[in-house]
Amino acid sequence: MVVYAPDWALPVEGAPIRGGGVAVADGRIAAVGPADELEGEVRRFPKAAIVPGFVNAHTHLEYAVYAGFGDGLAFGPWLTMHIERKARIGWDEFVAIARLGAAECLASGVTTIGDASFSGASALAAADLGLPAIVYLEIFGADITCVDDLRKRLGELEGEVDGQVSLGVSPHAPYSVSADVYAAAYGLGRPIATHVAESDDERDFMLRGEGPIVAVSDVEPPRTTSVRHLAAHGLLRADVLAAHCVKVDGEEIELLRRNDVAVAHCPRSNALLGCGVAPVRALLDAGVRVGIGTDSPASTPSFDMFEEMRAAVYAARARAERPDALSASEALELATLGSARALGLASETGSLVAGKRADLSVVSLAGSPYLPWEDPTVAVVFGGSPERVQLTLVAGEARYEKGEFRWQELRRSAAAARARMLATGAQPAPKT
Ligand SMILES: [Zn+2]
Repeated sequence: MVVYAPDWALPVEGAPIRGGGVAVADGRIAAVGPADELEGEVRRFPKAAIVPGFVNAHTHLEYAVYAGFGDGLAFGPWLTMHIERKARIGWDEFVAIARLGAAECLASGVTTIGDASFSGASALAAADLGLPAIVYLEIFGADITCVDDLRKRLGELEGEVDGQVSLGVSPHAPYSVSADVYAAAYGLGRPIATHVAESDDERDFMLRGEGPIVAVSDVEPPRTTSVRHLAAHGLLRADVLAAHCVKVDGEEIELLRRNDVAVAHCPRSNALLGCGVAPVRALLDAGVRVGIGTDSPASTPSFDMFEEMRAAVYAARARAERPDALSASEALELATLGSARALGLASETGSLVAGKRADLSVVSLAGSPYLPWEDPTVAVVFGGSPERVQLTLVAGEARYEKGEFRWQELRRSAAAARARMLATGAQPAPKT
C-alpha cells in the first residue's frame, strides 16, 4: 500500500482534507483521510494538492498538432480547411499525432478521455500510453453505407485495444450526418458522442439551409434546430454525449434534460471559434449532466484542463454578470466527476472515493501566489497548470511523472506530421 500525502486532498465527493492522503493498493483507492491515519509507505508532496484525475469529456487526440490552424476563420471555412489538410496525411501520422495528444493529456493530469476520432488512431494511442478512454469513431454524410464501414472499423480496432479503452460511435453533427445514418449508428449498440448546437453557421444551415456549411454538407436541412431535429427522430438518449450545446434555448435545455443527454462543455473552443458562451449555469440548474472538455488544438491551443476550468468560470461569470455563476469547486467537479458522469464512468473514476480506480493527479502550488493556503480548491483551479503537475496516476500506475517523460520522441514524429499538412496546397486566405 502506498499513501500519497500532499498538504491537501480534494476528494470532490466530500470536503477538502487538510493533511489529507490517498492510500492506493492494487490499482484502487483503498482509503482517503488524514494521511497520518493511513497505513502504508508514505510519499509526501509538500505545497501540493491531490485531485481526482481529470476526465476530459471531449477531445480529438488526432488533432494534437493543429495549433493555430486557420485562427480567425469563420466556422464554415475553418471546417473546410481542416477537412482538406487532414486528407494529406495517413494512418501512421494520425497515430503519431494522437500519441502526442495522449501524452499531453496525462501531463495535464487527465486520466480518462472521451475522444471523437476521425481515423481510429486515438484508440491505439490511448491504449499505448495507458490513458483510459472511450474513443468514438466518427462518421459523416447521408449515405447509410458508411455505417457498414464503421462496423468493420470497430471490429478491426476491437482486437487492438485493451480493457481501459472502449469504442463508441460519433455521428459527427446533425448538419453533417443525416437522421437515418444517426439511427443506424445508434443501432450498433455503442456509446455515442456528437457535436450539437455549436455555432450560428450550424443554426443557419439547420433552420434555413443557408451559410457556409451548405458547401460542405450533403445533408438535407431539416428546417429546425439541431436539438429539436434530434429529439424529433428519437435520437436524444441517456447514452448520448452532446459536445458544445452553445446555441440552445430553454425548451432545448428541457429536451436535453428530459432525455438525460449529457453535455460536454468546451468553453475555450467555443470562445476561440467565436461561437459564443454555452449556458452552463442554466444546464446545471435544469439538472443536465455536464462535463468539461478541451476539444482539440484545432480550436483550443492545448489539452490543458486547468485552463479549461478557468475558462468555464470566466465564461459563466461574464455571461451571467455574477461572481457566483460558477464557483471554483463547481468547475473542479465539472472537470472530474461531472465529466465522468457525462461519459457514464462515475462508478469507476472522477472522485477520490475508496473502491474507485486510483486515478489522481498531484498538483504543486509551490511558488504560486496562492500560498500560504487559504482555499485549496481556488488555488488548484486558478493557480494550477500542466507545468505544476508532478504526478499522474492511472489505476495506481504512474503514467506521467514530471522530469521523466519521452517528450522528444513523441514530439518529433508528431511535428513531422504537422509539417506534411502544411507543406502542400495554399494557405487559407486571411479573414477579411
Ligand atoms: Zn469536437
